[in-house]
Amino acid sequence: MSRSDISDNALKVLYRLHNNGFQAYLVGGCVRDILLGKEPKDFDVTTDATPEQVKELFRNCRLIGRRFRLAHVVFGREIIEVATFRGHHPNQDEEAKDNLSKQSDHGQLLRDNVFGSIEEDAERRDFTVNAMYYNIADFSIHDFAKGMQAIEKREISMIGDPATRYREDPVRMLRAVRFAVKLGMKISPDTANPMYELAPLMANIPSARLFEEVLKLLLSGQGLETYKLLNEFNLFEQLFPQLGPLLKTQNSRELAFIEQVLMNTDNRINSDMKVTPAFIFAALLWYPLEERCQQHMVEGGLNHFDAFNLALSDVLHRQIQRIMIPKRFTITVREIWQLQQRLPKRYGRRAFQMLEHPKFRAAYDFLLIRGQIEGGELLTLAQWWTDFQNVDPEERQGMLQALREKEGGGAPKRRSRYRGKKKAAQ
Ligand code: ATP
Ligand code: MG
Repeated sequence: MSRSDISDNALKVLYRLHNNGFQAYLVGGCVRDILLGKEPKDFDVTTDATPEQVKELFRNCRLIGRRFRLAHVVFGREIIEVATFRGHHPNQDEEAKDNLSKQSDHGQLLRDNVFGSIEEDAERRDFTVNAMYYNIADFSIHDFAKGMQAIEKREISMIGDPATRYREDPVRMLRAVRFAVKLGMKISPDTANPMYELAPLMANIPSARLFEEVLKLLLSGQGLETYKLLNEFNLFEQLFPQLGPLLKTQNSRELAFIEQVLMNTDNRINSDMKVTPAFIFAALLWYPLEERCQQHMVEGGLNHFDAFNLALSDVLHRQIQRIMIPKRFTITVREIWQLQQRLPKRYGRRAFQMLEHPKFRAAYDFLLIRGQIEGGELLTLAQWWTDFQNVDPEERQGMLQALREKEGGGAPKRRSRYRGKKKAAQ
C-alpha cells in the first residue's frame, strides 16, 4: 500500500497517535479497497488509545455512539473515524456488572464497548476482507483472517460462525449483500446459508439505524442489483414489510415499476445527478398505497380523495415502524404522491400553477415512469406534460384549448373521472 493512496487527514491522525506512543492502524474498507485498486470511500483508524485519550490528542474531535463508542476527528467535510480495539464479551452474568457490553436474550449485541487487543479486534470484525490492518509504524499490512485470499477468490466470508455473528448483529446480513454487489464478489455458501432463516431478526434493529443502512444499499449506484440480491435472501421484505406479498410475484407491473425506478436512480447517481431518497421511498410504497386506498373505498365506503389521503398516512406510518424515514423526506414522499392526483387536472390555471410547484419535477418524473410501465391513459398524460413543458409559452394555451375540445367541454365531474381511473387500474 502506498501512502499516496491514503488521505492526508488520515495520515495526520495515524502519525499523531503513533508519535504519542499509541498503536495506530488503518483498517476495514479503506485497506480492502486500496488492495482492490479502488478508491476508498472513507478512512477508518483503529488504535489502543481509548476514546478519551483520542479526544485529548485532537482539538477537532468528538465522541459519538452508545452501542459502539468511538471518536470522530473532523477535518471540514472529511471525518476520520477512530475506534479503540474491541475485545470479546464476558459471559452474560459478568456483563451485567461492567456496563460496557450488553447482549439480548437472542444473542444480539446491544452494547459493544469492551476494549481488547488488535488480535481480538480482528476477530470482532465482520468479513475476512474487512480485517486487514495497515500499520503506520512500519507500513506493513496485518492480515488476520485470510482477507487477501478472499480477495483472490472474490469471496465475502464471515469471520467466525456466521449464524452467531448474524445473531449478534443482524445488520451484518445487509452488509454481506452490500459488499458482494459493491465489490463484485460472491457470498461464500457458509456465509450465505444462515441468512434465509435469520432474515426476520432484522425486526430487532432500531429503525434509525436501518434508515442509514437502506440509504447505503439503495443509493450506492448499484441499487437495482442490490435490491435483487436482498430479495434473494428474503431481506428486502424485512425492510419493506408492506411489499412482502408483492415481492413473491413474478413479472408483475408493480415489480417492473420498482426495478425501473431503481435503474433510473442508478443512472442518475452514476452520472452525478441529484437523487432524493424521498423519490425511492415514494416509488417503493406506491402500490401498497394504491392497494390500501382501494381497500378504504371498498371496505370503508370512502370516496377516492379521502381514501387516498387516509391510505397515504397508513402506509407511511407502517413503514416508519421499520425504517425511520426522517420527516423532511416523508413530507416530500407525501407531496410526490399527492401531486399524482393533481397531474391529471389541468384545466384553467391549474396546469400553470403545477409547473411552479417546487416538487413538480419529481412528481413529473414519477408520472413518467408510471406511464412507461402502465401505458394507456397514464402514458398519454405523461406525454402531455412533457409537451407542455417543451412548447413555447404561447402554445400552452392552445394545448389546454385542445384538451378541452377533446374531452368535450369543461372539467369532467369527479365521479366520471374516478370511474375512468378505476378502469385503467383494472
Ligand atoms: P464502506 O465504508 O466502503 O462502506 P467499510 O468496510 O469501511 O465499507 P464501515 O461501515 O465503514 O464499512 O466499517 C468499517 C469497518 O468496521 C469494517 O470494514 C469492519 O471491519 C468493521 N465493521 C463495521 N460494521 C461492523 C459490524 N456491524 N460488525 C462487525 N464489524 C463491523
Ligand atoms: Mg468505511
